[in-house]
Amino acid sequence: MTMLAVNNLVAGHGLLTAVRDVSLRVHTGEVLGVIGANGAGKTTLFRTLAGVHPATSGTILLDGEDVSALSPSRRVASGIAMVPEGRRLFVDMTVRENLQIAGENGRAGPWTLESVLDALPSLLPLLKVLTGGLSGGQRQAVAIGRALMSNPRVLLLDEVSLGLSPVAIEGLYEQLAGLKARGDTAMVVVEQDLDRAMQFSDRVVCMLEGHIALEGLPQVLGKQAITDAYFGLAQGDIAYA
Ligand code: ATP
Repeated sequence: MTMLAVNNLVAGHGLLTAVRDVSLRVHTGEVLGVIGANGAGKTTLFRTLAGVHPATSGTILLDGEDVSALSPSRRVASGIAMVPEGRRLFVDMTVRENLQIAGENGRAGPWTLESVLDALPSLLPLLKVLTGGLSGGQRQAVAIGRALMSNPRVLLLDEVSLGLSPVAIEGLYEQLAGLKARGDTAMVVVEQDLDRAMQFSDRVVCMLEGHIALEGLPQVLGKQAITDAYFGLAQGDIAYA
C-alpha cells in the first residue's frame, strides 16, 4: 500500500531551487534510500516533507490524504516523523522526558515508552540521563526513539549515522533492521555510505542538483550506476581505468 506519495514537489531557498519536480512513492514496510552528494537537496526534501520548510509547488499525500498544507505538528499528528540531521534533542531533559514529550504530540498507536524501549534496548539504562551528556550514538538512538513515540506511518531518517563510530553505526542499523522487520512503517533514509544504503534499502532514488536522476532496486541498478548518478555522470560518459 502506498503510504507516502510525493508529486512534482518543488522547494527552494530564495532564488535557489533545491528540490526540483521530485515525485516518489513509499509503501508501508518499505525502505526507500535517498542517495546524493552534499547539496543535492536531500535535507531540503526531508524538511519540506516534514513541513518545516515551505514547498513552492507540488503535493504530499499520506495514505491518500493531502497533507501539503498542514503545519509540522499536524503532520507529526498525521504520522510523518523526521529524525533530523544533527538530531536536535532537548539536551537539558532526560531521555525519558524527551521520549514522553514526543509521545504526547503524536498519534495513538503501538509505540509506547515500553515498546520503544523493547525496540531500542540501548536506551533502557539511560532513561534518567540528561541527553546533553550522551554519546553521539546514544543521542541518535534517542532521536529515533523520539520519532517512534509519535507512532509514525512514515519515518524520515536524515543521515542517522553521521559522526558515529563504526561500532555505534552497526548497533544503530541493527536496531533499524528490527524496525524494518516489523513491516508497519514506511521509511525514507538518507545514508552517505553507499554500500550500507544499498544493503538496507528496498529501493533507492539518487538525487542530483535537486532532481531524481536515477531510481530502482539497488541490486538491479548496481553500485556503478548509483555512483555515476551520485557524481552526475551519465553511464558511458567516462571510461573507468
Ligand atoms: P547535505 O548532505 O550537505 O546536507 P543535501 O543533499 O541535504 O546536502 P540540502 O542541504 O538540501 O542538500 O541543500 C540543497 C541546496 O540548497 C544546496 O545548494 C544548499 O547550499 C542550499 N541550501 C540548503 N539550506 C539552505 C539555506 N538555509 N539557505 C540557503 N541555501 C540553502
